[in-house]
Amino acid sequence: MTQEIGGFAAFELHPNILAAVIATGYEEPSAIQQQSIPIIMAGHDMIGQAQTGTGKTAAFALPILHRIDPAKREPQALILAPTRELALQVATAFETYAKQMPGVTVVAVYGGAPMGPQLKAIRNGAQIVVATPGRLCDHLRRDEKVLATVNHLVLDEADEMLKLGFMDDLEVIFKALPATRQTVLFSATLPQSIRAIAERHLRDPKHVKIQTKTQTVTAIEQAHLLVHADQKTSAVLSLLEVEDFDALIMFVRTKQATLDLASALEAKGYKAAALNGDIAQNQRERVIESLKDGRLDIVVATDVAARGLDVPRITHVFNVDMPYDPESYVHRIGRTGRAGREGRALLLVTPRERRMLQVIERVTGQKVAEVRLPDAQAVLDARIKKLTNSLAPLVADAESTHGDLLDRLTADIGCSPRALAAALLRKATNGQALTLAAIERDRPLVPTSAPRERSDRSSSGDRPERSGADRERRAPVPLAEGRARCRTALGARDGIAAKNLLGAILNEGGLAREAIGRIQVRDSFSLVELPEDGLERLLTKLKDTRVAGKQLKLRRYRED
Ligand code: ADP
Ligand code: MG
Repeated sequence: MTQEIGGFAAFELHPNILAAVIATGYEEPSAIQQQSIPIIMAGHDMIGQAQTGTGKTAAFALPILHRIDPAKREPQALILAPTRELALQVATAFETYAKQMPGVTVVAVYGGAPMGPQLKAIRNGAQIVVATPGRLCDHLRRDEKVLATVNHLVLDEADEMLKLGFMDDLEVIFKALPATRQTVLFSATLPQSIRAIAERHLRDPKHVKIQTKTQTVTAIEQAHLLVHADQKTSAVLSLLEVEDFDALIMFVRTKQATLDLASALEAKGYKAAALNGDIAQNQRERVIESLKDGRLDIVVATDVAARGLDVPRITHVFNVDMPYDPESYVHRIGRTGRAGREGRALLLVTPRERRMLQVIERVTGQKVAEVRLPDAQAVLDARIKKLTNSLAPLVADAESTHGDLLDRLTADIGCSPRALAAALLRKATNGQALTLAAIERDRPLVPTSAPRERSDRSSSGDRPERSGADRERRAPVPLAEGRARCRTALGARDGIAAKNLLGAILNEGGLAREAIGRIQVRDSFSLVELPEDGLERLLTKLKDTRVAGKQLKLRRYRED
């Protein structure tokens, strides 16, 4: 029998869980599910490493549901997630899988919502608590015993939690849990900081690693487009004309940019909305719901706000602003091509960002092909195709419903059916340009090849408005006279902070504090401003310097 059902049945999960899984339409467990479910069911601690979209939620939710006792009305499993969106998504998944388990309740605990009802739900006997670390700590401060009965802990997207600065909160939470609990940690990457947590808080963990980077990416067709920063909005509008999308998510770097781009899209008639960390929680949930059910087609989001967002309708991801590192690129484009569907990802690249494009290609092991902006002919073809698609289904029976009216109108007006049809088309298309000449007249001068250099950035007709602050943010940080910029491959993910770099350079280089300029620590590298004078000597001196146990290897950094 097991053979016949195969897949999930082989795990011997509680029959009611299996039934719920089958009801969701899952046929086969994904790779991470295949490997993790037996380990977690057996009660082992585990470290699971897998990319976004690999099915991690069910990988822990199913075995955890199997292990809890529905008869006991107290918290038994705690799932920690980096953001409210993700916590809600995990909670919803648990509810789906527990649908046929009477008595099992799930509570989501996150900031931005009142604490009272959350605490009440926990005290009323929710067995599964899905929480963001910050809010959970608030609860612990009020009642340190609130987690005393939890014997399964899952850290979902552990690397993201650390990136968001939840390290201290995690320590508080670990202390509040019974030492005998089972601990499972999922993360897309395993930087040193995560390994350290595992070392301290997991007992003899089993390791599961799924290499899906390339696999995740292959279901997604990737392309990039070279464009100047101030032409991005018009480039996006042109691309939308020709891309055949269902739902689309656009990534930008700032909250302001989500608002600006969303309103530019709305002004062109798209059903678009912004999603960023400043938007109230209930409003964010509404946005995601609307994207799911088609009231919205485009969401313009920041990375944090879109974290874990899972909307199967999404066919396209536009990276309007470059992601900060290749990992977030992979995460972003993982919003499309969910669960084996096909997706398309477009990356806008400004001239200065070409290097990052190369890094992304190297890390994902794939070439991200260059595309050009559609020309007027392509836009015209796309518009006519849309019009054709919208009219074609009506032709079958419109004559029987409106044919007589047409006869009457042509007679009354005294015109040919062709003249009347043309008038109706003009009305229906509402002033839209539908000839080559009209499109060319309408369109801003967007480049169809590599962007022009900075000097003629003032030529575009409907250039997006950018605030002064935004412009400043985009401008390269000017280097002070006599300073050189140097780079090391050590960054935040190596556990490096600016003060470590400063300390090492001061000590080993024998410099005065004032000689060192700005220090910028990024995830996978850092930049330090040093005196140009005697730089080669200084770099030689620092040749063998180690920071946080790793070779500093500082080199001059040239931007072009
Ligand atoms: P991750 O947490 O690894 O990013 P999720 O758990 O959010 O991935 O799952 C991604 C998507 O795949 C979800 O829409 C989920 O419902 C779907 N999914 C998960 N497991 C399966 C499966 N075995 N078969 C089909 N779809 C699945
Ligand atoms: Mg997940």
